[in-house]
Amino acid sequence: MEPILFEPFYRPQIWGGRRLATLLKKLLPAAGQFGESWEISGHPLHVSVVAEGALAGTSLADLWQWHAAEIWGRRRPIPQAFPWLIKFLDCEDYLSVQVHPNDTTAARFCPGERGKNEAWVVLHAEPEARLYTGLRSGVDATSLRQALEEGTVERCLHGFRPRRGDCVYLRAGTVHAAGGGVLLAEIQQPSDATLRLFDWNRVGPDGKPRPLHLEAALASVNWGAGSVTPRHDDFIQSQHALLLECPHFQIHRIYLAAGESASLADFRGAMSVWVVIQGQATLRTSHDCYACSLGTTLLLPAACEAEDWRCDGREGATLLGYGPPMPSTSQAS
Ligand SMILES: [Zn+2]
Repeated sequence: MEPILFEPFYRPQIWGGRRLATLLKKLLPAAGQFGESWEISGHPLHVSVVAEGALAGTSLADLWQWHAAEIWGRRRPIPQAFPWLIKFLDCEDYLSVQVHPNDTTAARFCPGERGKNEAWVVLHAEPEARLYTGLRSGVDATSLRQALEEGTVERCLHGFRPRRGDCVYLRAGTVHAAGGGVLLAEIQQPSDATLRLFDWNRVGPDGKPRPLHLEAALASVNWGAGSVTPRHDDFIQSQHALLLECPHFQIHRIYLAAGESASLADFRGAMSVWVVIQGQATLRTSHDCYACSLGTTLLLPAACEAEDWRCDGREGATLLGYGPPMPSTSQAS
């Protein structure tokens, strides 16, 4: 199989901006605030479609139905559907203060959806940007509810100024938000279950506030989870770093200095997804070359004979690589 490029889906959001175009060179419509680019999705809200090559026009759902073993590989149990939702987020304004349910609370409050664990890698942050990742110690259901009533919820949240290269893992049940001009690469379980606690007293284009889900959200919070501290990686210190390992995925980072290449031998035999977050790079397979510009997301099927990534250009290239969890951690999930 060959590497697969999908058509991105740009989702307007009240909190979105234009950074997907200005910083990632995405071809956004001329006007509008876009919060999300869905790079690869099997979620029914938007199913990705192959953009190029012999499979152009094929949906990811069909692709998975016919070729799951060749795409995913045979070393691990094959998921019934594509197991990740891969996005970029431009949080010009703030995301609602929100929580995602786990599988149990999703079944109760979000019929048809599954739980959602997600991870962010910060690609760019304005000086005023903030990430909120979890609750401060001592915050319980009573104090959070009171703060929401008084409009002082920010005081309950663990907030920090993000830096390019910060990586956070947000388990289901972790209260979170982001905004003030921050561009994120996101990988999550394929679910659109978001429960809003607070929406910054904003109104939508229709002049109405977006719905909150206070009781469901409070019932979905993992009160023992505490706050999440980012793991920082400066993107260029080493050629390869493992940024995150969790029961659902791994996040790798590869940096290529000018003229360098990096072998993909460690990634053979399992599906991986590669995102060019700085510069441009070329993927070499046993019979072809694929030039990938900034902002490109490429799925590398397990059955693809990929050799290496090479740097194109003098300023180096940085890529994120999403891979399946280690076989032992995936069984533990
Ligand atoms: Zn979220």
